[in-house]
Amino acid sequence: MVLHTKTQESLARSGWHRPQVNILVLGAERVGKSALVIRFLTRRFIGEYSHIETIYTHNVTVDGEETRFHVWDSLNPQGRGVMAHPSEQQMRWADGFVLVYSILDRRSFEAARRQLAWLHREAGGARAPVVLVANKTDLCHQRVVSVEEGRLLALGSGCAFLEVSAAESYHEVALAFRQLMATVQGSKAVPRRAAGLRGIIRSVSAVFGGKRRVD
Ligand code: GDP
Ligand code: MG
Repeated sequence: MVLHTKTQESLARSGWHRPQVNILVLGAERVGKSALVIRFLTRRFIGEYSHIETIYTHNVTVDGEETRFHVWDSLNPQGRGVMAHPSEQQMRWADGFVLVYSILDRRSFEAARRQLAWLHREAGGARAPVVLVANKTDLCHQRVVSVEEGRLLALGSGCAFLEVSAAESYHEVALAFRQLMATVQGSKAVPRRAAGLRGIIRSVSAVFGGKRRVD
């Protein structure tokens, strides 16, 4: 993660702030979180992904305004079909959430259901800015979670829903991220808590050590 801190500091001193959106990608193990993030940032599907927790930085133009977009590809140490809740640090950092399950893995869908309920409670009953993403539609002959089930879950939670294939389509994946970014920018419904962005980023760097920038 490289955030050009010096440039940000001098811009902040001059009173100009580029809009920033922090997106946390959540989901059970092996549902395709990293594949979705890499597809969105590079347009490529590379098949196998590292298991290093990473925050990527990317500039995106939304409604004609250039926005700095940070995406945290989270690791799920609890394994397949189970999903840890975001940490206090992740909740402070995140403006919105991409919540992923695989249409081939019912446990990942049930884990997403529990995660949505938890996010809803954390947001004090308000709508958390979430897009629910059902991945791996290219393998729909092995589907075990129907599109209706996904739609119903999203409807009940008041969040957006998309079925995608990170393996086959850049556009579906980009739509999911862009939809969430627009929602976040429209609402900023999850106020960032006490610690400033830069402090969080420093501590994340200290924890994970990885430095990567994708533009
Ligand atoms: P993560 O643990 O949630 O980050 O999952 P990964 O992104 O590492 O993906 C887990 C496995 O699923 C990898 O072998 C990917 O190649 C595969 N995968 C991810 N997305 C898709 C998809 O849309 N279709 C198919 N067929 N495989 C996918
Ligand atoms: Mg991953």
